[in-house]
Amino acid sequence: MIESRHNTHSVKVGNITMGGGSPVVVQSMTDTDTADINRTVDQIKLLTDAGSEIVRVTVNTEEAAAAVPKIYEILQKQGYNTPIVGDFHYNGHMLLEKYQGCAETLAKYRINPGNVGFGNKKDDRFNSMIDVAIRHNKPVRIGVNWGSLDKELATRLMDENSKAERPKSSEEILHEALVLSSLTSANAAVARGLGEDKIVISCKVSRVQDLVSVYNMLAQRCNYALHLGLTEAGMGSKGIVASSIAMGILLQNGIGDTIRTSLTPEPGASRDKEVIVSQQILQAIGVRNFTPEVTSCPGCGRTTSTFFRELTDDVDGFLRKKMSEWAVSYKGVEQMKVAVMGCIVNGPGESKHANIGISLPGTGETPSAPVFMDGEKVTTLHGEGISQQFKDMIEQYVHRTYTRHEDVITSGQ
Ligand code: SF4
Repeated sequence: MIESRHNTHSVKVGNITMGGGSPVVVQSMTDTDTADINRTVDQIKLLTDAGSEIVRVTVNTEEAAAAVPKIYEILQKQGYNTPIVGDFHYNGHMLLEKYQGCAETLAKYRINPGNVGFGNKKDDRFNSMIDVAIRHNKPVRIGVNWGSLDKELATRLMDENSKAERPKSSEEILHEALVLSSLTSANAAVARGLGEDKIVISCKVSRVQDLVSVYNMLAQRCNYALHLGLTEAGMGSKGIVASSIAMGILLQNGIGDTIRTSLTPEPGASRDKEVIVSQQILQAIGVRNFTPEVTSCPGCGRTTSTFFRELTDDVDGFLRKKMSEWAVSYKGVEQMKVAVMGCIVNGPGESKHANIGISLPGTGETPSAPVFMDGEKVTTLHGEGISQQFKDMIEQYVHRTYTRHEDVITSGQ
C-alpha cells in the first residue's frame, strides 16, 4: 500500500475522517435539483451504495437550503449516515445564515473564493460563511476552480509579472494564482478562528499536467488536507483516463486525502459510475482495496466465442454485488484476486497467480475449463452451467478462506 507522504491535518467530516494518514476518502456529487427531495435522496442512496463515503449536493437556492434538513432526516431514517456536503456559490453567506437547519445538518461547506462576491463584499461574505462554520463546528473546503479563479488576484499577479525582470509564463502565474487564492482564503479562515483541522483545500483544473503542478505546490506549502480531482474531466474514456493519470501521479507521491472523479455522465449512464472509477483508481494504484479484482485477458483470435466476455462480465458483477454482504462478514475479502482467462496460452498461468481462476477453452481446444485455487488445479468444469458453478466455487472459497469479522471480535484481535 502507498502511504501518504504529505503530512496533512486530520479533518472530521461527519463520521468520516480524512487527512492525517487516514485512508483516502471517495466522494461524489449529485446532479439532481436539491429542492427535489425524493430524487436527491434516491441519488445519495445510489452513490452511497456504490461506495461513496461523502456526497456533495448543490445548495444554490432557498428551496435547496430548506430541503437539506428534510433530505438528511429521510436518509437517517433509512439507515444512511453518509455525510452530506453543501456546495455554495454567490449566495452561500445568505443561505447559511438564514437556513440554520441546513447549516447544522450539512457535514461540511464547500466555499469557492472566486464565486463569493466582488470588491468589499467578498471578504464580508467569506467571513460570514466562516463564522457559521465556527458556530456549528463544521469543516469547510476552500474549493478553488480554474474556471472561476479570483479575477482580481489573477490580474494583480499578471500585472506584477509583466513588470518583473524575468517574467514567468502565464501558465506559471495561473498556477500561482490558484494556489495563492486557496491558501490566502484558508489562512484568513484560520485567522478568523476556524481550526486548521477544519479546512480542506482543492485547486481543480482540467488538464493533467496543470493539476500535478498545482498540487505539488500545495503539498510543499501547506499541511491542509487536500481534495483531489480534475474538474470538467469529460465524458467516457477521455474523462476516466485523464482523471486516472492526474490523480494517479499525485497519489503515487503520497499527495491527496480525498478524491472525486468529475465525469460527465454518458446519456443514460448511472451517476454512480464516478464512484466506481474513483475506487478503481485507488485500487489500481494500491492505495485502497474495495472489491475483489478480476484479471481477464483482452481476448484474441484464439477465443472467438462471446461466452468468455459474458463470463467475465458476469463474474465482475457478481463480485461487486456480493461485496456489500462480504465486506461486513469477511475480513480481507476485498484483496481477493479472481482470474477469468480466454484460452490455454496464458489461462492456467494467470489463474494460478490468482486466488481463484478459470481458464476457458479457446477455439479448437478441448471444451473444458480447469479451475485453480491458490495455485493448484482443483477441478475442471464442462457444459452449460460453467458460469454458475464457477460463482458457487468463488462463494465457497470466500467462506473457507476469509476470517469472519465476528470471529476476529470474539478472539479479541
Ligand atoms: S489468454 Fe488466450 S485468448 Fe486470452 S489474449 Fe491470451 S492468447 Fe488470446
